[in-house]
Amino acid sequence: MLGSVLLAVFLPCIGMSAALIVYMCLLYYFTDHFSDPALPAKPASDSGLSPSQLDKLPRITGKELVMGNECAVCLDHIGTEQPARLVPGCNHAFHLECADTWLSEHPLCPLCRAKLDPALFSSSQNPC
Ligand SMILES: [Zn+2]
Ligand SMILES: [Zn+2]
Repeated sequence: MLGSVLLAVFLPCIGMSAALIVYMCLLYYFTDHFSDPALPAKPASDSGLSPSQLDKLPRITGKELVMGNECAVCLDHIGTEQPARLVPGCNHAFHLECADTWLSEHPLCPLCRAKLDPALFSSSQNPC
C-alpha cells in the first residue's frame, strides 16, 4: 500500500523532472542558437582588410626592400628570397604572412601606424 502511494507520488515527479530537463535543454539550445545572430557581427570593413584587399597591396621579395629588411611584426630578418608585403604610402615592408595576419585585423601599418587609405582599394575601379 505504502509502496504504491510512494510510486504514485514519485512517478509524476520523475516525469516532471524529465520534462523539465528536456525543456531546459531545448531552451538552452534555442537561446544559444538564436542569440548568435543577435550579437554584433564583427565589422569587416573597420577591423581590417579582407583577403581581396590584401591582394591589392604590393607584393615584393626581400631583395626589393628599400626601408631596411627587418620585419616589425615578428622582429625577424626578411630574407632576400622571402615574399614580403609593402605598405603603400609609408613603404614599410613585412613578411607576407606577418603583414597579412596583422592587416587582416588592423588597417594600419604595424610599424608607423599609418592608416591604409581606403581609396587605395577602390582606385582599381576608376576608369583612368
Ligand atoms: Zn615577420
Ligand atoms: Zn609604415
